[in-house]
Amino acid sequence: MAGGVVIVGAGEAGVGAAFALRANGFAGAVTLIGEETEIPYERPPLSKQVLGGGALKPIRAEADYHTADIALISGRKVRRLHRDTHEVEFGGGDRLAYDRLLLATGAAPRRLAVPGAEQGPIHYLRDARDAFALRAALGPTRRLAIVGGGLIGLEVAAAARALGAAVTVLEAGPRLLGRGVPVEMAEVLTRTHRDNGVRLEVDRHLAEIVWRGGVAELVCTDGSGTLADLVVVAIGVVPRTELAAEAGLALDNGIAVDAELRSSDATIYAAGDCCSVPHPLFDGRRLRLESWQNAQELGQLAALNLMGGRQSVEHVPWMWSDQYELGLYIAGMPTAGTVTVARSDAHRRLLFHLDAAGRLVGASGIGPASAASRDIRIAQRLIARRAAPDPALLADPAASLKALLSPLLASAG
Ligand code: NAP
Repeated sequence: MAGGVVIVGAGEAGVGAAFALRANGFAGAVTLIGEETEIPYERPPLSKQVLGGGALKPIRAEADYHTADIALISGRKVRRLHRDTHEVEFGGGDRLAYDRLLLATGAAPRRLAVPGAEQGPIHYLRDARDAFALRAALGPTRRLAIVGGGLIGLEVAAAARALGAAVTVLEAGPRLLGRGVPVEMAEVLTRTHRDNGVRLEVDRHLAEIVWRGGVAELVCTDGSGTLADLVVVAIGVVPRTELAAEAGLALDNGIAVDAELRSSDATIYAAGDCCSVPHPLFDGRRLRLESWQNAQELGQLAALNLMGGRQSVEHVPWMWSDQYELGLYIAGMPTAGTVTVARSDAHRRLLFHLDAAGRLVGASGIGPASAASRDIRIAQRLIARRAAPDPALLADPAASLKALLSPLLASAG
């Protein structure tokens, strides 16, 4: 069978790459392989709307795959790569040939490794099946304990409060959202969760889970205990690199690709949560981002380069989180900043993160619903243009951010 492009992984990066190949005029065979049986769906709603009873949101309608002549193989796991013969091997032993291969294998939840963690019904949240199982369990749940105060943990906490559960979050670090969310933004969300009745415990290191009659006691190293009818673990993810590792591809916090998303094998590319990329906007620092937007951007870029393009990654990271009535937006890398400039008005709180040279490298904003979205989108464009805006203007709520962008757009022609 003709090779063409084979894509392993039918999430945001894989699906995006498949359609981008067609949108850019690729005429060869495109095969997209996913382990799950559902039509590929978006993950962000899983920890938000789906827990509240909403439906899955397909990334593309089923008919679109036919129209675009993309062969979608669902419910099948690729077991091995044969780099010598340019084939992927399925669990059943059958093989499929490729000319170029894209690994968009994503990430898997990090498992909790304490005594008792494998004995009772513990929920993780990564895919549709997880979300439906958690939704069914949440209905009658009185006491929910969430291990991990990151994005999933807090989004689940908000959804569970809406369903009436008593919620405790146990976070190992000294604060919530310790990875990449600025302290001040995390504090706003911390207050909001407390105001909504969530018990938040930081610096809590779980020692074991003791199950008695269907009730879990989460015992921490400080001797404290939390009783729960349902336990959710959300302690981060690990990139799915098994196929790449077994095939001998270079790894470095995920599949190591160059700025054009090419792995150590020139016919194999990677995109999404599974790979780390040297990012030119951040001094070539190797980043492995775990966001919906990153998966989309890398999927699009991979498509161009799978067709022989030579484009480098250049997008500015972007993420958002909805919790209760609040929307949090982050662009760039706040942690790369050394100086923070704040701006507030009646609707939003914004933070701008500048590096030692005064260049804007990150921005974050929080407010009701999408109140902070537009400003952080403008900041994202400033970051992309390596702008070094006047901090006094950034701090002044009366100064237009758009006006900072205009001269940069004009000089770019
Ligand atoms: P996460 O955002 O990385 O947060 C995991 C949290 O769990 C961290 O605060 C971590 O603290 C803590 N933790 C680690 N080990 C622990 C332990 N043994 N006990 C208690 N706490 C522990 O990961 P996540 O919430 O599981 O989310 C998974 C992935 O989905 C992430 O990539 C996330 O970005 C993505 N996601 C994104 C969104 C969004 O963009 N809105 C929403 C949901 C999920 P330390 O940092 O101190 O280790």
